[in-house]
Amino acid sequence: MARVYNFSAGPAVLPEPVLQKAADEMLDYKGTGMSVMEMSHRSSAFKEIIDSAEDNLRKLMDVPENYHILFLQGGASSQFAMVPLNLIGRTGKADYINTGAWSKKAIAEAKRYGEVRVAASSEETEFNCIPEINREMFDPAASYVHITTNNTIYGTVFHTPPETGALPLVADMSSNILSQVYDVSKFGLLYAGAQKNIGPAGLTVIIVREGLVGSALEITPKIFNYTTHVEAGSLFNTPPTYGIYIANLVFEWLLDLGGVTAIEEINREKAAMLYNFLDNSSLFTGKVAKKDRSIMNVTFYLPDEKLNEQFIKEASDHGLVMLKGHRSVGGMRAGIYNAMPVDGVRKLVDFMKKFELQNA
Ligand code: PMP
Repeated sequence: MARVYNFSAGPAVLPEPVLQKAADEMLDYKGTGMSVMEMSHRSSAFKEIIDSAEDNLRKLMDVPENYHILFLQGGASSQFAMVPLNLIGRTGKADYINTGAWSKKAIAEAKRYGEVRVAASSEETEFNCIPEINREMFDPAASYVHITTNNTIYGTVFHTPPETGALPLVADMSSNILSQVYDVSKFGLLYAGAQKNIGPAGLTVIIVREGLVGSALEITPKIFNYTTHVEAGSLFNTPPTYGIYIANLVFEWLLDLGGVTAIEEINREKAAMLYNFLDNSSLFTGKVAKKDRSIMNVTFYLPDEKLNEQFIKEASDHGLVMLKGHRSVGGMRAGIYNAMPVDGVRKLVDFMKKFELQNA
């Protein structure tokens, strides 16, 4: 079967040249006579891979020297616990911004370890925007402020992170890391599950400022302590080796393309195609406030659930798959991550135009 255009929210589309290279190297990685999957994480061949992944990610995101990069297991959800376990101890308090289901999960987990306050929320408007935020809203005694930069389910994004002054800003960047330029130095810590813009599920990337490591709560299990992983260079136990290898191929692909600035331009072009169509459509609608529209997850709706279902089915018959919206919000959602080709979005918009003509 020919490859489809896969709009899944994650695990998601990967760049075809990356998959091809991985296939070419599957049985014999660079003359080692084995697959990366079969290789010891203590081998020199793997050491080169993980070092290269760190260097490449540092280049791509312009990560300052005083930040550690960790490649761990556990998914973004593991960070919902690791962040408070490691950071809340300074004052016992933290501020969170609630912009959707993933923020809520992060908040619920953090509450197990300290006093958590929701400093701002867009729940009242069904998370269709990023709430207005200013520095005065934060508790000066908070150990950190947590945001979700891109809200995968609703399709909203912090195009600019909030100013938090001296308070460390912590961000769940799972669904938009490497998609647009963020200044890493504005964050104390950022984390992402890999399965959208980085690589296969199972790998979690954490970028953390040096000064924030080393004051974990007493109860913190050793495996959840950032210090453990910083000291061991992400090799305290067996890391997700194959995921790190694929991530590095994705980083190389992105560097060849011109880095995050270059992909951001392409991402904006792809998103604009969809949003322009939605803004002029007599049948499809979007719900997200224009200023906060995500360039990674575009959500849209038809007038009723029956038409939504018909659209999803017919699109799938045309090789445009995984367009069903999250079960909590219905409608449609197009995951247009870095690896989604412009042509895929063009074909989706063409199909939407046709669908509109036939069903208006
Ligand atoms: N945060 C965000 C913004 C997400 O989109 C997701 C997954 N879709 C998660 C956290 C949870 O990630 P994981 O499954 O890697 O724990």
